Amino acid sequence: MSISVLDIFKIGIGPSSSHTMGPMNAARRFVLDLHERELLGRTAQVGVQLYGSLALTGRGHCTDRAILLGLEGHSPEGLDPAIVEPALMRIRGSNRLRLGGQREIAFDEPMDVLWHRDQILPGHSNGMRFTALAADRSVLCREEYYSTGGGFVARADELGGPSAAATQIIVPYPFDSAEQLLGAAREHGLELHELVLANEGVSREAAATRSALLNIWAVMQACIERGFHAQGLLPGVLKVRRRAPKLYRQLLEAGSASPMQAMDWVNAFALAVNEENAAGGRVVTAPTNGAAGIVPAVLSYYRRFEPGASDDGAVRFLLVAGAIGILYKKNASISGAEMGCQGEVGVACSMAAGGLVAALNGTNEQVENAAEIGMEHNLGLTCDPIAGLVQIPCIERNAMGAVKAINAARLAMRGDGTHKVTLDQVIATMRQTGEDMSSIYKETSQGGLAVNVPEC
Ligand code: SF4
Repeated sequence: MSISVLDIFKIGIGPSSSHTMGPMNAARRFVLDLHERELLGRTAQVGVQLYGSLALTGRGHCTDRAILLGLEGHSPEGLDPAIVEPALMRIRGSNRLRLGGQREIAFDEPMDVLWHRDQILPGHSNGMRFTALAADRSVLCREEYYSTGGGFVARADELGGPSAAATQIIVPYPFDSAEQLLGAAREHGLELHELVLANEGVSREAAATRSALLNIWAVMQACIERGFHAQGLLPGVLKVRRRAPKLYRQLLEAGSASPMQAMDWVNAFALAVNEENAAGGRVVTAPTNGAAGIVPAVLSYYRRFEPGASDDGAVRFLLVAGAIGILYKKNASISGAEMGCQGEVGVACSMAAGGLVAALNGTNEQVENAAEIGMEHNLGLTCDPIAGLVQIPCIERNAMGAVKAINAARLAMRGDGTHKVTLDQVIATMRQTGEDMSSIYKETSQGGLAVNVPEC
C-alpha cells in the first residue's frame, strides 16, 4: 500500500479532519455513487445516521454542517469558507437540499440526520450510514462509511484494505516501517527526503511535488496570518477568546529582547492555526485538523529563527514529516477516536520533530531519533475536548506539541542518532496504548476535562 505525503497534508476546512472533512467526503462520495449508478434522478429522500464518536461529539465538530455540504457536492479542498453560512441557511430555511448540486429534494434535518450516541458500527468509532430512498420509500441504495482520521474515508468493504487515496502504486523504495525506510536509504545512499521524493515521483514530476509542497506551506502561512489578524470569540458555547492576535501584537512590540522570544513566536504560530481551525477556516491537515498547528508552527520557527533557512529546507521538512505521518497511518492510526490525542498531537509532534531535523540537514538516524522522542513523551495523551469543540484542550495543546517537537529535534541533533527506543517500537507502543485506552478518552467527550470543566 502506498500513501503519498500529499494524502497526509491535505488542504481543507476546520474544525476537524475526522468529524468535518471525513463526513463531508463520505457524503459527497455517496452522492457521486448514486450518480454513477444512475440512481440520483430517482432519489427522493436521503437519510444519514451517525454513530459512536461522530454522534457523541459531532455537533461540536460541525459534522452535521459538513454532511449537508457534502450531500450538495462540496469537498473540503474545493469549498470556499465564505459560502458555508449562506448554503446552510438556505438548506435549513427551506428544508430542501440540492443533492450533488443538481437534484433538489425535501430534507427534514431532525428526521433525516439521526445521532446514535449509544451505538457503534463494527468497523470504527466514526461510522456513518447513508440511505437513498425513492418516492415510494423503497431503498435505492444504502452504504456505510467510516472516517478514519486525517480526512481519510473508507466504505465498509474497503476498511482494512487500500483506500481510494492509497491505491496500489509501486514505488521505487517501498517501506512499511522506519527500519525499512532507514534501510532502503542506507542501501541506496539516499537522504530520507530524497527517498521520499523519488517515491512521490511515480505520481508526478519532482518539480510538481516541490511546487505542491510549497503551496501547502503557503496555505499554512496564510492560515497563520489570518489567525494573527482575526478578532473576537470562537464559535460555540465555551465563548473562547482568540489569543493569537494579542500575542502577535505583543511580540511585535517587544522586539527581540527576551531570550524566550522564539518560544513565544512558536506559541503564537500554533495558536493562530488552531484558532482558525476552531472557527471553521482553511487549514492543512498535518496529519489532522485538531493537530494542524504543530507542523506550521515548527516550520515557521525554522524559517524565522534558523540561519540559512530556505524553501529547499521547507520542502525537505514536509517530505520527511509526511513520511513519518505515513508510518503512523500504516502501523497505528491518526484518529483521535481510535488512539486518543497521542494519535493526533503526538503524531504531529513526531512528524514536526523529524521534519525539522531534515530541514536542518541532520542525518537520517537523527531524523528517526527526533521522531521517536516526539512521540515517546506524548504516549497516553487522551482526547477529552470540552463540549465536543476542537478548542480546549486542543488549541493550547498544539502550542505545547510544537515546543516539544523543537526540543525533540534539538535533543536528537546533539546526539549521533544512536538510541535505545526505536521509532517502530514507539509507534507500536502508541497503537497498543490507544487500543487499551478507555473509550471515554477517545473523542467522545465522556471523560477527562470534558466532564470536569463546566461548559459555560
Ligand atoms: S484533544 Fe486532541 S485528538 Fe481530541 S479533538 Fe482535541 S486535538 Fe483532536
